[in-house]
Amino acid sequence: MSTSTSSNFIREIVENDLKTGKHSRIVTRFPPEPNGYLHIGHAKSICLNFGLALDHRGICHLRFDDTNPSTENVEYVEAIQADVRWLGFDWGDRMFYASGYFEQLYQYAVQLIKKGKAYVDSLSAEEIRTHRGTLTEPGKDSPHRTRSIEENLDLFARMQAGEFEDGMHVLRAKIDMASPNVNMRDPTMYRIRHVVHHRTASQWCIYPTYDYAHPLSDAIEGITHSVCTLEFEDHRPLYNWFLDNVDVPCHPQQIEFARLNLTHTVMSKRRLLELVNKQHVTGWDDPRLPTLQGLRRRGYTPEAIRAFCEHIGVAKRDGVVEMALLEHFIREDLNRRAPRVMAVLRPLRVVIDNYPEGRVEELEAVNNPEDPNMGTRKVPLSRVVYIEREDFREDPPKKFFRLAPGQEVRLRYAYIIKCVGVVKDERTGEVSEVHCTYDPETRSGSSQAGRKVKGTLHWVSAAHALEAEIRLYDHLFVKADPDDIPDSRDYTANLNPASLERLRGCRAEPSLTGASPGSHYQFERQGYFCVDSDSTEGRLIFNRTVALRDSWAKIEKSSTA
Ligand code: ATP
Ligand code: MG
Repeated sequence: MSTSTSSNFIREIVENDLKTGKHSRIVTRFPPEPNGYLHIGHAKSICLNFGLALDHRGICHLRFDDTNPSTENVEYVEAIQADVRWLGFDWGDRMFYASGYFEQLYQYAVQLIKKGKAYVDSLSAEEIRTHRGTLTEPGKDSPHRTRSIEENLDLFARMQAGEFEDGMHVLRAKIDMASPNVNMRDPTMYRIRHVVHHRTASQWCIYPTYDYAHPLSDAIEGITHSVCTLEFEDHRPLYNWFLDNVDVPCHPQQIEFARLNLTHTVMSKRRLLELVNKQHVTGWDDPRLPTLQGLRRRGYTPEAIRAFCEHIGVAKRDGVVEMALLEHFIREDLNRRAPRVMAVLRPLRVVIDNYPEGRVEELEAVNNPEDPNMGTRKVPLSRVVYIEREDFREDPPKKFFRLAPGQEVRLRYAYIIKCVGVVKDERTGEVSEVHCTYDPETRSGSSQAGRKVKGTLHWVSAAHALEAEIRLYDHLFVKADPDDIPDSRDYTANLNPASLERLRGCRAEPSLTGASPGSHYQFERQGYFCVDSDSTEGRLIFNRTVALRDSWAKIEKSSTA
C-alpha cells in the first residue's frame, strides 16, 4: 500500500538523508500515550509516520509512551493497537513500550548524575515553579543544585528504593536556570509516584518525564526521524541535550509539524475523556466523536481517512480544517463502493388505487451506477408504498417537483403515479395517507418509460418493508470553534443539543434483511448509512454517515435568502 505521492518538507528531509547516505534505512515511530482512544489527529500522525516508512522501505515502530501510570491502562493499549490496524498499518513485531526501557533510563540518569549533569532537588513542586522564572525573567538556582555527586547518587537510589513519599524529591537535569528557553531551566527528569503501572506493577515508584524518556527511547530504538507536533518545537533543544549528554547509540532528529484541528469538534484526549465521563456522548465510540472508533461506527472507512490525511498534507503552521472536507472524503469513497438501496426515514403511506390488490411485481434496481460490476437486485412493488413525508406537499411551492395533488412523479425503478386525493388525521389535520393512480404503461425499462416527469421518488413497498431505527447526526458543537464562548462558561456550553436525532419506525427495502454491522449503503436521495454495532437481525439500526448534498435544501435556502 502506498500512502502518498505528493511531497512535503518532512518527506524531503527523509529523502535527502537517504540520498546523502546519512541513513541507509529510515526508522520512524508512532508514540501514543495510552491514556485515551485515538482520534483523527492521531490518524494524521500515523499516516505520516507509517507512510514515510512504507514509501522509503523503512520501518515504523508502535511505541506506547507509558510513563504516567496514573492515567494509563490496558484498555487504551488494546484499543490503540486495534485502531492502528484498522487504519491499515502494520508494525510487524516492532511494538514497544517506554516502560520497557525503565531500567535503561534509570542507568542513563545515573550516568548524568555522575557527570554532574543531574541533581536531586528537594524543593516542593510549587517552589520549583516559582524558581523557574518567567519568559522575561531568568530562573533562580535551587539551594540543592550544588549537592555533591555522591549525595545525588545516594538520594536517587533511595528515591528508587521507595524511601520517600510522592513529591519529596525530584531528579532534575542541570542545564541553565537563566536560559531564555524555559524548557532548559533544569527540567525535571524523574518524579516519585507510588502508583501501580499497568505493565511494571509496583516495580518502580519513580517515573521519568516525557521530555527525558522520549529522546532516549527514540535513541534506544534507533529511530532516525522523530516526527512530532509543533508544541514540542521549544523542547527540541532539550531533546538534543539529553542525546548529547548521555551515551546513546544514535542521535535521532526531531522534526515538528502542525497538528490537525477540525471545526465543530474537540481533539484533545482530556476533553474527549470529559465528554465521555460526563455522558455528553455515549462512549469513546459515539459516532459524533472524532475518535477513530467513533468515526468507524459512524461509517467512515480507513480509505477515506487516509485519503483525507494525504490531502491535508503536512504543514509547519497550525490551522483548522473544515469538517466539511472530511465529509467530502467519505462521500467520495462511499460513492464508489456503497450499494444503493431505498429506505424511507419519515414514512407517509401512499395507496395506489388502481394497482391490483394482492399483486407484487419484482422490479430490477441498479446496485451502483458508479460500478456496473455490482449488478442489480429485485425490489418488490405492491399496492401500498411508503414515501418520504417531505416528498409530499398539499400546497406545493413553486419548483416543488415532488408529489402534490394533481402532480405526477416517478417511483424509482417503477411507474409514474399521480396524486388523486389525501386522507387527513381528523384530530391533527395532518395528511396521513395519499391516494394515487399509476400509469401501467410507464414501467421503468418499458417502451413507454420515456415519458418524462420532473421528480423521481424513493419508496418502499409497505407489505415488504423492514422496520428500522435510523440515527441522524449533526455537529457535536454548534460553533466551528467550541472555545468561542461567553466568558465564565466552558466549551461544553457550545454542545449541540440536536447533534443526535433518532428516527424510529423508518422503512427499508427487504434486501437489507440481515445486513451486518459495519456495512455501508447509500439510501437513495438521503445519504450514506452504516449498520450500527447495536443492530441485530430483528432490530436494524443505521447511522447516517453523511448526507448527500441536498439540491432542494439549496433551492429553498437561496429563495429565502
Ligand atoms: P492530545 O492532545 O489529543 O491529548 P497527545 O499529543 O497527548 O494528544 P499522544 O498520545 O501523545 O497524544 O499522541 C501520539 C502522537 O500523535 C504524538 O506524536 C502526537 O504529536 C500526535 N498527535 C496527537 N494529536 C495530534 C493531532 N491533532 N494532529 C496530529 N498529530 C497528533
Ligand atoms: Mg502526548
